[in-house]
Amino acid sequence: MFQTLKAQPADKILSLMQAYKADPRDAKIDLGVGVYKDASGNTPVMRAVKEAERRLVADQTTKAYVGLAGDPAFADAMIDLLLADTLPRARISAIATPGGTGAIRQALEMVKLAAPDATVWISNPTWPNHPSIIRFLGMKVREYRYFDEATRGVDIDGMIADLGTVAEGDVVLLHGCCHNPTGANPTADQWDRIIATLQDRGAVPLVDVAYQGFGDGLEEDAQATRKIVGAFPNLMIAASCSKNFGIYRERTGILMGIARDAAEAQLTQANLNFLNRQNYSFPPDHGARVVTTILTDPALRADWEAELEETRNTMLDLRRQLAEELRRLSNDDRFDFIADHRGMFSRLGTTEDRVETLRADHGIYMVSDSRMNIAGLNTQTVPILARAIVDAGI
Ligand code: PMP
Repeated sequence: MFQTLKAQPADKILSLMQAYKADPRDAKIDLGVGVYKDASGNTPVMRAVKEAERRLVADQTTKAYVGLAGDPAFADAMIDLLLADTLPRARISAIATPGGTGAIRQALEMVKLAAPDATVWISNPTWPNHPSIIRFLGMKVREYRYFDEATRGVDIDGMIADLGTVAEGDVVLLHGCCHNPTGANPTADQWDRIIATLQDRGAVPLVDVAYQGFGDGLEEDAQATRKIVGAFPNLMIAASCSKNFGIYRERTGILMGIARDAAEAQLTQANLNFLNRQNYSFPPDHGARVVTTILTDPALRADWEAELEETRNTMLDLRRQLAEELRRLSNDDRFDFIADHRGMFSRLGTTEDRVETLRADHGIYMVSDSRMNIAGLNTQTVPILARAIVDAGI
């Protein structure tokens, strides 16, 4: 049987990680994989997570199965974190999923169940797993313009023009905050235009929220999603706890479905449960229980929020430092966009050749589309990167 298999393309980011490991140079800098790293290059377990895990180990009395949707307390806590009281709870259905990726996958499978002919629209560029899963599921996919190569901001006119051609019932995948890979995000006014266009077309949003708290703050990063939620009868939200709780390997995420009313929400919930059963039955519980423990305990929650704020401020400081250093070295403000971008990434906006020069000549590793993980820097490496960028003629 296996002799019929075709080779699969290597994952670009994982290959980059291997190349970085194999590079013998001491002064190398890893701006590749999307994992938060502190100034010493470690990805720490957050204090509140350690404490929640300690309590779980001490107090948990059973490992028996939870329901198909996961622990209802997890859904309540995550709905509160992301949507607050934007919507009546009765309109929202939810399933726990293995990571944000699991939530995206289940969202797309929901589209296949409910509207198999719908086209899924994705931003150009987007996180490569989006088109990869959509194509794997045999679904129709189209791109909308997103990134302005000249300003490194959002190409809002191009985006609105493309979204203006979406057919009724098509699904439009949006990054709720901290766009991956560009770091460029719509302003509040631009979100209003995007929402009005999608409403006009009768589109169904699918909002991917993988970095709540990594941009401007937990509340601030939820604003666009809350606006979208209030504006459409039906939509889905795929949220990940990997980054903001630092629990990447625990595979913790949630898919929310917003229905017109309580009756439609029950039908939606039954179908979400059905999909969990088909794919893996019960979703993973450990990470979800850690998240619930933190969000429902005021002291733990305050500590988590404080550590998340430190994380966010570290990245913002690095952005400002890098933009300033580049301004100083190049005598030009063309890199100021780095300070305006939000989240873990910025797309530098240069050619694959120059990305390769940075790797070969300076041991600086970034994804070939020039996505840099800002968290891969520290105050010592910022000037080295800035000098290399200017020397490479970027
Ligand atoms: N969406 C986006 C845009 C992401 O960047 C990521 C993480 N790389 C995810 C979803 C899902 O992450 P995970 O499955 O690790 O929770």
